[in-house]
Amino acid sequence: MTAWRVAKALLALRIQVDALAPRRNKASDGTIGDRRHESSASDHNPWVRDGATGVVTAMDITHSPDLGCDAGTLAAAFREQRDPRIKYIIWNRRIANSSAVGGAPAWGWRRYTGANPHDHHIHISVKPEPASYDSQTAWALPASLKTVPVS
Ligand SMILES: [Zn+2]
Repeated sequence: MTAWRVAKALLALRIQVDALAPRRNKASDGTIGDRRHESSASDHNPWVRDGATGVVTAMDITHSPDLGCDAGTLAAAFREQRDPRIKYIIWNRRIANSSAVGGAPAWGWRRYTGANPHDHHIHISVKPEPASYDSQTAWALPASLKTVPVS
């Protein structure tokens, strides 16, 4: 494998998430492609090039509601904030692209039917341009990632 690194925008996101939920479970965290992401189309594969280095533009963050990191709360925050760095998110059998896809509006949920239902982690992909994937601008996250009751 060639040299690879993780998009700085996603590393910055993980630092913020860890600060908000320092005790969170990380069992389903991931960056570089692993057994869950064998498709060559996955952004977990470092297909984005920064010179000779491949850039992984996807990150998984474990759903850990009992330890302060509810992936549903994160998903809601991403969809509300519409951070321009995001390409798409996947959470709990649904996918939301930041642009309109297949008749669905930008950021609208669509059914996700991939082999992994993504109910143990949220997947975040950032766009393949350096201005997006390496932007370390603070992410707009809620003050707590604890479970938000559905009203
Ligand atoms: Zn993923």
